[in-house]
Amino acid sequence: MTFLTDIEIAQANQMKPITEIAQELDVRDEDLIPYGKYKAKIDMTSMERLANTPDGKLILVTAINPTPAGEGKTTTSVGLADGLSLIGKKTVIALREPSLGPVFGVKGGAAGGGYAQVVPMEDINLHFTGDFHAISAANNLLAAMLDNHMHHGNALGIDPRNITWKRVVDMNDRQLRYVVDGLQGKANGVPREDGFDITVASEIMAVLCLATDIVDLKERLGRIIIGYNYQGQPVTAKDLKAHGAMTVLLKDAIHPNLVQTLEHTPALVHGGPFANIAHGCNSVIATKLAMKYADYVVTEAGFGGDLGAEKFLDIKCRQANLKPAAVVLVATVRALKMHGGVSKKELEGENVEAVKAGIPNLERHIHNMQDTYGLPVVVAINKFPTDSQAELDAIDQACRQGKVEVVLSDVWAHGGQGGKTLAEKVVELTEAPNNFHFAYQADDSIEEKLNKIVQNVYGGRGVKLTGPARRQMKKLADLGFGQLPICMAKTQYSFSDDPNKLGAPEDFDITVRELKVSAGAGFIVALTGSIMTMPGLPKEPAAERIDVDAEGNIVGLF
Ligand code: ADP
Ligand code: MG
Repeated sequence: MTFLTDIEIAQANQMKPITEIAQELDVRDEDLIPYGKYKAKIDMTSMERLANTPDGKLILVTAINPTPAGEGKTTTSVGLADGLSLIGKKTVIALREPSLGPVFGVKGGAAGGGYAQVVPMEDINLHFTGDFHAISAANNLLAAMLDNHMHHGNALGIDPRNITWKRVVDMNDRQLRYVVDGLQGKANGVPREDGFDITVASEIMAVLCLATDIVDLKERLGRIIIGYNYQGQPVTAKDLKAHGAMTVLLKDAIHPNLVQTLEHTPALVHGGPFANIAHGCNSVIATKLAMKYADYVVTEAGFGGDLGAEKFLDIKCRQANLKPAAVVLVATVRALKMHGGVSKKELEGENVEAVKAGIPNLERHIHNMQDTYGLPVVVAINKFPTDSQAELDAIDQACRQGKVEVVLSDVWAHGGQGGKTLAEKVVELTEAPNNFHFAYQADDSIEEKLNKIVQNVYGGRGVKLTGPARRQMKKLADLGFGQLPICMAKTQYSFSDDPNKLGAPEDFDITVRELKVSAGAGFIVALTGSIMTMPGLPKEPAAERIDVDAEGNIVGLF
């Protein structure tokens, strides 16, 4: 079998002018900010005018613990949105913006796949409307003002050995992970150890994605901690008087980007924080705006249900006061085989027993969504061309025995047509009883919150804090951050903190090595291991195969 590549499918597609897409959504002319013919921003302040319009229903797409290739959350989200459009529902899909750097590494795009994609995919995966560049600029302005402050006498007494704010660039560039700067004498700054992160790891990305309006954005930016003074007290962006100018740099980035799927369902693609040290969801503003303009809003959370959905529910929904109407849990034959003990190299070829052996991973995710969070769930089996009927049947049967809704989703091969059954089931589920609640309470202690996540979501025994983490926990509580939700930074491959413990591991502890606060974003990051915040490129980067011809046609993007 040979298939068209994602970019070939996308390029063969005839997009509608973005003004038409906007009209179908009843976006008023004065609220549309076009960026060329196929991209636009919707003015987020139009939300205020729509304050009395009832909110659309929010549908979360999450997945079982994935293989490194990804199990198709974005693809399923797009296909489901197109399926909903097909059955006559006014639908918007809300997604993250992909990061530029990884496009040139191994990963490829993040705009869906096959016949379930958002377009123009080249633009979405490259500079798009410049939001990420604006975030880099705001981040680096703060860095420049910080070092400038120290150069001019350091009135705030910032300890150069205790600066946590880094510069960022949207490129996979390991060379910049650790640098020493401010060299060459007094005129050229204060020498110190420094480093770069990739733009999506900037706290400003998380801040932009959790802010509810420009005032909230500015307040959050002001609360960002850049490091500590010689007394060990936090120094903020507000102390440096940087937050106003940073907000100015983000004045356009705050408005969600409107594009379309291959089948012309409107898509708001906005913001893209890391899913480990941050919460991994598109912006609150895009989600809320989508809920004003549409009756059904499909959105995705990064990684599997233990990380992505947990943070979507416990951080984003809590902060933004959102209540999902249903959850779609994506499962694949290949990931279940992996959970059933098959090595990554041997995932091809029929193996029904391995699929069955992997089911406990799916079951724990179902239990979490239904019982820990009280939400209606449907399992979407994302069908791959290599799956056998017997393998697909094994998942279907297991779900039926477990009394959970299950639907075969064939959106990669057939777009919205392949997602119609899923769409019908989702509409039905949004009418089902919904007892949404969080996995922990805001006023639980930090340790209680960590234990509840480990016990109620991961299925483990509890949390173990290293000595340093325990001291940090006390300090964070003393500084008044004890009420914040937790942002777990953990491997996405396992419920545990060990990527090799597949399936549904039991009797494990989660070791937290470091706790730090993202005071602007409003969460405490719990690190279970070292997390890479500046990726590198592989030996043969995808960039070597990316090219453009005399007519401007791009090849090799994916
Ligand atoms: P996620 O959002 O969960 O990371 P994606 O939707 O981005 O996953 O899909 C990951 C990769 O797998 C993409 O390259 C996509 O094209 C491919 N893919 C997804 N679903 C299918 C499918 N049913 N058949 C073949 N390839 C698929
Ligand atoms: Mg995705």
